Amino acid sequence: MSKTRVLAVLALAALAAPAFPEEVTRRVGRLVVSVDESSAYPGGLLSVRLRSGLRYGAVHAILAGRRCPFLLSHRGLRALVPVPVDGQPGPTTLGIEVLAGRGRQRFALPITVAERSYPARSVLLPEVKKAMLTLPTGVRDGRLVQLYLRTVSKKQEWSGPFHAPVPAPAEPSFGCPQTYDAPPPVEAKTDAIWGEYHRGLDYLVPAGTPVSSPAAGTVLFAGPLLLTGETVVLDHGQGVVSVFYHLASTPVREGDWVEAGAPLGLTGETGIAAVPHLHWGVYVHGVAVDPHVTETFAD
Ligand SMILES: [Zn+2]
Repeated sequence: MSKTRVLAVLALAALAAPAFPEEVTRRVGRLVVSVDESSAYPGGLLSVRLRSGLRYGAVHAILAGRRCPFLLSHRGLRALVPVPVDGQPGPTTLGIEVLAGRGRQRFALPITVAERSYPARSVLLPEVKKAMLTLPTGVRDGRLVQLYLRTVSKKQEWSGPFHAPVPAPAEPSFGCPQTYDAPPPVEAKTDAIWGEYHRGLDYLVPAGTPVSSPAAGTVLFAGPLLLTGETVVLDHGQGVVSVFYHLASTPVREGDWVEAGAPLGLTGETGIAAVPHLHWGVYVHGVAVDPHVTETFAD
């Protein structure tokens, strides 16, 4: 085969291959909706893109009653839709709501949430930390952090995939139902940030390991809390928020803007941590998702 012919065949192959293998495009009237289902599993995320020849107002993607706004990403309108870790796998529908012309248009797209199970784990706490689980301060702190987790800033601060906050592999820890060798945590009864399942990734790194920001963002909170210890909450924009728990110290303050890779502090074992480690949690519209999904962010 000549070199020109080979190049022509490669070009045709490139045209035939979709840019995102698991992105399904559907056309409804003049609306074109693309749904990336590659992370559609409990604890995952749907990325929904919208193109339209219509004039429209506010639009949402809706999954299990949760309305997620379409916001302007680097590649046009997109909604990030979290799949809760306790969501049911199987076929379901994604609602798309458009305010166009004189009224509201709403239609449903069939999607499939894949199965994913998370192994249970038990947490052995040092004696001195067991009492922390039942103190009301933990509930108060949890409610404060929950307010930050629901932040939706219009501007997308990140560009491309997030990177790990420490240079080490994470423990398989996200989504694990967990029990403590102590009284049940009061937060388990309030569905706050702590409790019946683990809402992030744990990195078992030595105390004093530098933590860097996985992506650009604005510091919503930095300071000590009862259960999460020295805590940093970062707003990456468009409903994506990171938390970093159990730090020994942090140089950042509320309102600081940090770029990807910026120092966020040193790891420790503050709060309810049984051993020195970093806890990294990622929330989308207030719902905990597996932080690994941020590795697939394409833009
Ligand atoms: Zn953790």
